[in-house]
Parts: sequence; C-alpha cells; structure tokens
Amino acid sequence: MTRNRIVIVGGGFGGLYTALNLCQFPWTEASRPEMVLISDQRHFLFSPLLYEFVTGEMQSWEIAPPYEELLADTPIRFQPAQVRGVDLAQRRVDLGKETISGDYLVLAVGGETQRPPIPGLSEYAYEFRTLADAERLRERLRQLLTGTGVVRVAIVGAGPSGIELACKLADLLGNRGRVRLVDRGAEILKTFSPFAQEAAQKALEQRGIWLNLSTTVTEITAATITLNYKDQLDVLPVDMVVWTAGTRTPAWITALPAQHDDQGRLVVRPTLQLPEYPHVLALGDVAACVDENGQAIPRTAQAAFQQADYAAWNLWALSSGRSLLPFKYFHLGEMLTLGTEDAAMSGLGVQLQGSLAYIARRLVYLWRLPTLKHRLQVGWHWMMTPWLDWVTTLVSNQR
Ligand SMILES: Cc1cc2nc3c(=O)[nH]c(=O)nc-3n(C[C@H](O)[C@H](O)[C@H](O)COP(=O)(O)OP(=O)(O)OC[C@H]3O[C@@H](n4cnc5c(N)ncnc54)[C@H](O)[C@@H]3O)c2cc1C
Repeated sequence: MTRNRIVIVGGGFGGLYTALNLCQFPWTEASRPEMVLISDQRHFLFSPLLYEFVTGEMQSWEIAPPYEELLADTPIRFQPAQVRGVDLAQRRVDLGKETISGDYLVLAVGGETQRPPIPGLSEYAYEFRTLADAERLRERLRQLLTGTGVVRVAIVGAGPSGIELACKLADLLGNRGRVRLVDRGAEILKTFSPFAQEAAQKALEQRGIWLNLSTTVTEITAATITLNYKDQLDVLPVDMVVWTAGTRTPAWITALPAQHDDQGRLVVRPTLQLPEYPHVLALGDVAACVDENGQAIPRTAQAAFQQADYAAWNLWALSSGRSLLPFKYFHLGEMLTLGTEDAAMSGLGVQLQGSLAYIARRLVYLWRLPTLKHRLQVGWHWMMTPWLDWVTTLVSNQR
C-alpha cells in the first residue's frame, strides 16, 4: 500500500503546529498519510520568549525544545535538512544531497532579518532572531559584565523586538547599562495600539532608555555607531549594536515561479493554497494572505499559529475529499514584555499593565507551547523555581 505523503518545510509556528494538528484528525490506518517535517534546526523556537533566554529568566529547553522530543509520540518523521529550493509543479523538495517529493507540500520557512547595506552592519551588529543569535548576545553581555565600566548598547528598530529587548537589557544591566533605541521612523511600535505605545513609552522612560527617532544608522564599527538625525552626523561610542529592524523573505522563496507580493512573499488563497498549485500550501511569514474577511494577515506568531489550524484541516480535506475552509483571522490582542516582571497586554476588551500583565502573558505563552507534555514540564519548572531558589539560598546561608 502506498500512502500519500505530506511534506512540511519549516518547523516553526506555521509548520510544527500544522504537523501536530494533522495528528488530531481521525485517520484510519489505511488513510493516514506519511508526514514529514523538515527543518534546518533540530529544535523548535518559541521566539516570543527569546528575551527571557537572554536575561537568564528561562532556559533553552523551555523555549527551544528539540523536535525529537516534541514528535516522539506522533507518527511525524522529522528530517533535519536545509531546503535549497522546491519544484512546485512536481512538489519536489531539494535537500542538497537528496530530494523528497510529496503529494502535498507545505511551505512555512519564516522570515529572515533584513540587512540593508550599511557599512559595518554585517561585521559588527548582532541579530536577534534565532537561538544561536540569542546565545551570541548572551555571551557578549557576559563578557561585558565581567569588566567594571558602563555597558553601552544600541538597539536598532523600535518595533516590538527592539522595545522588548531594550527594556529587558536595561533591567539586566541595571545602573551599569546605557541603552539606546534607534529608529528611522517617527514613532515606536508603528502597528500597535495607542495603549501599547503609551505603555512602552512609559517603560522606556522609567528605565532611562534613550530614544532616537527619525534617525538613521549610517555606519557601525567595533566600537561606534554613527547616527544621522536631520543630516547631522553623530559618532557615538558603543559596546554592542543589536539589529532588530525588518524582516525579509528568503531569496529562494522569492525566486519560486509563483505569485509574490511586493515583499516577495508567496500569494496564497484564503485556503492557504498557492493559486497555481492547489496541492501546495504556504503559511506564516512567507505567505501573503488575505483572509476570508479581506484582512491582510500580519507576520506574527499569532497569525501563523491560527493558520496552522486551517492548513491542517485543509490538508485533511484535500486527502479525504472534504470541503476546504478559508482562513479567518481573529486578532486576539497584543502582548509586550517590558522588563523584568513588567508587561503590557490588551485584547478581548481587557487592558493590563505591570506584574498582572507579566503573569497573564506567561500563562498565555505556557498554553501556546507545543505539546501537553512540554507545557507540563515548563509549567512545573516555573512553579518549582521559587522553591528551588529558596532552598538554595537557605543552604548557602547555613554554610
Ligand atoms: C525575537 C522575536 C520575537 C517575536 N515575538 C513575537 C510575539 O511576541 N508575538 C508574535 O505574534 N510574533 C512574534 N514574533 C514573530 C514570530 O516569531 C513569527 O511571525 C513567526 O515565528 C512566524 O512563523 P513561521 O512558521 O512563518 O516561521 P518561524 O516560526 O520562523 O519558523 C520557520 C522555521 O523554518 C525553518 N527554516 C527556515 N529556513 C529553512 C530552510 N531553508 N530549510 C529548512 N528549514 C528552514 C526555521 O529554522 C524555523 O524552524 C517574534 C519574532 C522574533 C524574531
């Protein structure tokens, strides 16, 4: 008996959750397809909690569990490989040394950090997107903190990643930190609500974070950053520059012979199918999707997570002759971490700030972690940490 094969490329919010959702359908032994998840990393990354890894509030096993563990009790086969291209018509995926074909193909490889051609950016600026990026950042901070002087950090991009990282680093560095946030736009958190903008502004001010808006970066060196404000150049000494501005679509996705939007993303129907290739679906950051109600879908984990429900259903429907469902996006709200034990969240008519928002954000993310087993492990660890800290303090005080 030959089974249908579903090949999912990319193991993030779009790809992994599609794969896990697929396992929930009542396949019979005869109808169950072979499911393959391909990713270039061996672990999933829950990026909204990457800040907590940098500050040491969370550990890598919590935010980046290996696929081997997540998929252990499922029929999904994980294949670690970097995809180099796809033949959409044949649904054949190029893995370098080999190829793999599927009856259905899902593209969910996410975005990359945009790197404009600014002198020194590639050589000296730190990115903040992957676990490896966060590890490099952590190591650099550790080195800087072993010295005695002030630690000067410039973060480029006043979107959510830049704001959240600035607040977390300001709290981590305390009175040794000098944190600066730079953005070429005239406001922070351009796509967020006034509530989130005000909460973030307040958090930046409370922490003494310098904000340079309407300012462009013209050069980065090992020890300086050059800023241009109204044609006035300012060369500032800096110990670390973190680049969080902009997301771009991977070049091999933009090169595929399909319809793209002006950001190179794959245009999909509301059912997440590529118009010319109905057996190929795309979701998450690589998909240019307008949902059934005409809403353009943002590049967020929230959107990819919701699309994964529809992608799984539509794969099940395609395999079993059922009707496909057009994606309907439901904006649940906004959440921002604004430093240690501080956050802002709004949604479903509720607005919260401070420690209550911090706890609520953690609980929402705990619920969103993949697999019940992983949620229980992380939840248990969070519950036990205060006790373990207390016991450690007690023991060290008695020595
Ligand atoms: C630091 C940070 C914080 C964020 N915080 C939030 C937040 O709080 N809320 C929110 O809604 N969104 C947040 N986002 C955005 C969110 O992470 C993305 O929108 C979301 O991850 C998109 O899901 P995706 O499945 O398209 O891509 P991803 O989750 O990025 O997954 C892509 C997967 O594909 C793999 N991959 C990439 N290229 C290849 C290849 N060539 N071959 C094989 N595998 C490949 C990657 O390793 C990865 O596993 C944040 C992003 C970052 C960087």
